[in-house]
Amino acid sequence: MTRPLRALIDISALKHNFSIVRNCAPQSLAMAVVKANGYGHGMLRVANALENAEGFALLNIEEAVTLREAGFNQTILLLEGFFEACELPELAAHSLSTVVHCPEQIEMLEASSLKRKLNIFLKINSGMNRLGFKPEVFNEAMHRLVECPAVGDLCLMTHFATADEAQGIAPQMACFNRVTSGLDAQRSLANSAAIIRYPETHADWVRPGIMLYGSSPFADVSAECLGLKPVMTLESQVIAVQEIKPGEAIGYGASFRSKTPMRVGIVACGYADGYPRHAPSGTPVLVGGVRSCTLGRVSMDMICIDLSSIHHVGIGSPVIFWGDGLSVDEVAKAAGTISYELLCKLTQRVPVVEV
Ligand SMILES: *Cc1c(COP(=O)(O)O)cnc(C)c1O
Repeated sequence: MTRPLRALIDISALKHNFSIVRNCAPQSLAMAVVKANGYGHGMLRVANALENAEGFALLNIEEAVTLREAGFNQTILLLEGFFEACELPELAAHSLSTVVHCPEQIEMLEASSLKRKLNIFLKINSGMNRLGFKPEVFNEAMHRLVECPAVGDLCLMTHFATADEAQGIAPQMACFNRVTSGLDAQRSLANSAAIIRYPETHADWVRPGIMLYGSSPFADVSAECLGLKPVMTLESQVIAVQEIKPGEAIGYGASFRSKTPMRVGIVACGYADGYPRHAPSGTPVLVGGVRSCTLGRVSMDMICIDLSSIHHVGIGSPVIFWGDGLSVDEVAKAAGTISYELLCKLTQRVPVVEV
């Protein structure tokens, strides 16, 4: 047998989560966000499972071409747009859509002589101050794009900074509505949090990411409460057991020292697999179906867990780090991060198995 660590991907959970997007935003087209290799789940695997989505959104042209060449005829959108003029003929050749967020990109479009028009998502900076045109320069950007022979359909787009937080979206929504009022174009605003909480943001295209993968966008509402099912389960096995005496330490830096006799399980999974090295002692795990926790520092290839009161487990017992029965959101919180990071940082060496 090979090393027991695996990431199981539950395709039916992915489809189920997509149906939640449809229930939340029944009038909108859905652009499934598959950046970062489908949040670590496999871009093509996710696209195949969500073939009914009207579009896919991702970051680079290579991935976009891979999707197109795999036979996906939907809208495929580059969320950061193009970076150099030399990408434009390739975008046109594959009918890829692109975000335009800065005047330099408009100049490149104006200077191009494309044989086919490109569909553009014109990004408005409504307050996040990352990508997009500020309200005061939006009209000029819009005008130049409308006049540009290389430009086909236009969709007006923005992205929310706090749709998942108590402060909500009101100022950004008001800004977007003011800037785009009366314009004849499609609109796209909503990430997962806005899809769930703010129907007024749904418009023509919604852009679900994290909710597809079964994690909650909100710190204060669980995925389960939202009806979402975990897609990725990271599981391994106990590969060794150590009995330690009071005063003995566990792992690098001897950062955990026991006050009592303990039974410690060593599990095949470490930071080189994508488990967060900064997860402290006490981060939850499931072993043999029972909740336990990590002990000491996470090594490159191994983690120690507490088996002291779980007598039925030993070498070969299954361990779940997140997924089925243990929410990735809970683990992320314990490790001081967010589910997005845990999911997309799974590394190449972890075998992925579809279930
Ligand atoms: C990543 C991303 C999304 C998806 O966000 P989630 O919070 O994962 O739903 C939507 N829109 C843009 C522009 C993004 O970059």
